[in-house]
Amino acid sequence: MLSKNSFHGLVEFAPGFAPRRNLSHVLFDFDGTLSLIRQGWPEVMVPMFVEMLPRRADDTDESVRQLLYDDIMRLNGKQTIYQMMQLAERIKERGGQPKDPLWYKHEYLRRLDERIHSRLEDIRASTVARDAFLVHGTRALMDSLQARGLPLYLASGTDEQFVKNEAELLDLTRYFGPHIYGAKDDYKSFSKKMVIERILRENTISGEQLLAFGDGYVEIQNTRWTNGNASGSRPWARMS
Ligand SMILES: [Mg+2]
Repeated sequence: MLSKNSFHGLVEFAPGFAPRRNLSHVLFDFDGTLSLIRQGWPEVMVPMFVEMLPRRADDTDESVRQLLYDDIMRLNGKQTIYQMMQLAERIKERGGQPKDPLWYKHEYLRRLDERIHSRLEDIRASTVARDAFLVHGTRALMDSLQARGLPLYLASGTDEQFVKNEAELLDLTRYFGPHIYGAKDDYKSFSKKMVIERILRENTISGEQLLAFGDGYVEIQNTRWTNGNASGSRPWARMS
């Protein structure tokens, strides 16, 4: 078994890190945690936001890029629509007339699709091995958790139909069965917090029994929801 001391480099352990022997359920984020299909998405979203933000006299290209990049990363892990709502707010702050956030989301997805379309085609045509689009070690981790009989859940801020389609292409659906959740058009009807609360409630387990993996700001924030404070053990394992 790997020990804490066997990790080197960019690995961060919370002060309270310790093995937990009573784990009963496992939750995963999708993009950046398991799947690399949408890798590079900030290189689509950031330039689009930069293009659409009205300029102030004291703006520099770098200050604008940094402002928008920070907004985007602070909301990473939540449904995409929240990043678009934040853009609309920024446009309004600068005296602009934003479009509906859904319009920005569709435009972003259109641009992102141009970037990832060939990846999906390559996987479908088997010209690239599908595991090439999995984060290193994903398949072995999935197999190991499944062999332990742990129920696995997937919750993503990406629209549910895309998550289900991409999970299927990557041969991940079989690990999660019906427990694949993603963003809905009615954005208030889904959040990772809601998925976590439901897992805890329906299985009558405590936050300590849930192990969760994610690579975004929101995953770290969710720690507080499941533990009641920020100093308890972390249910989300930080992977970046
Ligand atoms: Mg992610």
